[in-house]
Amino acid sequence: MDKLAELKKLELEMMQDKSLPLQQANLVFGEGDPNCEVLFIGEAPGFNEDKEKRPFVGRAGQLLRKNIRDIGWQEKDVYITNIVKRRPPENRDPNEEEIVSYKPYLARQIEIINPKIIVPLGRFSMNYFLPLAKITRDQGKLFKVENPQTRTSSVRGEYFVLPMLHPAAALRGNEMMKIFEETFKKLPAALQKVKDKNFTETKPEAYSIKSPKLEEAQAKLF
Ligand code: URA
Repeated sequence: MDKLAELKKLELEMMQDKSLPLQQANLVFGEGDPNCEVLFIGEAPGFNEDKEKRPFVGRAGQLLRKNIRDIGWQEKDVYITNIVKRRPPENRDPNEEEIVSYKPYLARQIEIINPKIIVPLGRFSMNYFLPLAKITRDQGKLFKVENPQTRTSSVRGEYFVLPMLHPAAALRGNEMMKIFEETFKKLPAALQKVKDKNFTETKPEAYSIKSPKLEEAQAKLF
């Protein structure tokens, strides 16, 4: 089965899974090229995304999409999705139960797409990969992390992850916008590093999800 067919099958499975929370909202599965090199992962759909059943189509989404174009890429060449795939009421942050329920589907979506680099947008999706990272401290850094699902799946072991501020945060002020845009400009070089296997940045010990302390902290988080 090709990646597109596998993603369709996964989407159908999600639609039929009535145990998932937020059933009152539409499923916003994600869009883009299943054979992409770069996967962007946001938090959860908002009002516009729920209406159009497409990720990142509101104001924050316009900013994300503009930055993708500004670095010379095309929206259709990347893939965009969210960790929680239905809109929480009144655009509140997704809660722990919602994240726990939706993340096995995100894990399978990532395994199908198998991108070269993953860009979590904001702390919720960043913490899926890097449970102890802080978004303002760690955005813009390239990390090599173990697949958070490794213990329950047979799939490949590691991902390259470059967290960024959520575009909605960038819209809140000039300084945040500057950081967001500057980090975005680093993406092509980071992708090239990963492709050239030229990644030398050392992962700080604190981020190792093999560390027993972190395992414990992670268990508490999710
Ligand atoms: N914010 C997100 O995190 N995701 C969207 O799809 C839209 C806004």
